Amino acid sequence: GLAAQAAPQDPMLEVEALCRRFGDTPAVQDVGFRVVRGQVTCLLGPSGCGKSTTLRMIAGIEQPDSGRIRIDGRPMCDTGTFLPPERRPVGLMFQDFALFPHLDVAANVGFGLQGPAADRRNRVGELLERVGLSGYATKYPHELSGGEQQRVALIRALAPRPCLMLMDEPFCSLDNRLRDGVRDAALDLLRETGTTVLMVTHDPEEAMLMGHRIAVMRKGRLVQEGPPQDLYDRPADRGVAAFFSDLNTLAGRVSGGRVETALGAFPAPGLIEGSRAEVVIRPQHLIPSHMDGAPARVERARYLGRESLIETRLEPGGALMKSRVPGLVLPAQGSLIHLAVQHGAAMVFASKDS
Ligand code: ATP
Repeated sequence: GLAAQAAPQDPMLEVEALCRRFGDTPAVQDVGFRVVRGQVTCLLGPSGCGKSTTLRMIAGIEQPDSGRIRIDGRPMCDTGTFLPPERRPVGLMFQDFALFPHLDVAANVGFGLQGPAADRRNRVGELLERVGLSGYATKYPHELSGGEQQRVALIRALAPRPCLMLMDEPFCSLDNRLRDGVRDAALDLLRETGTTVLMVTHDPEEAMLMGHRIAVMRKGRLVQEGPPQDLYDRPADRGVAAFFSDLNTLAGRVSGGRVETALGAFPAPGLIEGSRAEVVIRPQHLIPSHMDGAPARVERARYLGRESLIETRLEPGGALMKSRVPGLVLPAQGSLIHLAVQHGAAMVFASKDS
């Protein structure tokens, strides 16, 4: 007969209403999201927001107070069910998830494999080749660089073909120069093998680079989930926007469906008349010119190589604004320029204290 085929957009991981407290700390509160088969989702958030606790509950290392977890359609955790980590179809890669020091590279990679020795050997050989470590099978972990160890840890986790890879800051311990190479190798391998991944990171750039989707957490809660571009272009609030770049913020009151500011009036759809609102503009969208826009006095201008950072104060005596302009643009300190907001680039949010 025909077996039911899983649709590609089927979730590999489903998390619902997950909660976990530590004493008085609600580490994870009502968190729910899905990870689609073959995709990478990054859990992004500041230190202490509950990312690792969420990941550890999915791995089965931490027990939730309540909530449901399904992997590949199978309940891992529900009322009356709690599968221990070793029975979950997951691969784990943590920042401090060390290799077994007394086993050589081949034995480390083959550690979780079952079946005939020849098959295991082939699988190990194939994976070592894929990450450019073919000649390393008989070396020991202490003979490897940090980047090489990390690649071995990655293929060790991938070797048994887990349904889901769980990665917690896997590239965190590598220095910048190494990190890019290891990250690219990991990304290629995960893509080629069609592996579904949930990865924890505090680095927004890494989340944008690695994730098909990003789930942003703050204070134990999930604030926004979506493709990187959505989070960047349509952040749910100022906090999410602030993750991805520095921001210019102007306060105002909603009147006639708009917020009037020193940089002009901006539509405030969905905000209550008379309420307080914030207009948020990324520095690369605040464009200095000689002619058009609001007058501003140059306080400081610095050339950063790829771009220039120009700090101005809105006249008269207004807020300090930052503009980022491609190339070398250095207006004289104290000179008067004008600031215009790139069309459609202002983001308007309800003020927290409105
Ligand atoms: P980091 O990036 O620093 O690891 P995180 O976002 O992963 O942060 P968690 O490690 O999940 O955050 O921690 C969430 C909250 O729960 C924090 O306030 C933390 O202090 C607390 N917490 C985590 N584990 C425990 C524990 N075993 N006992 C008590 N409190 C804990």
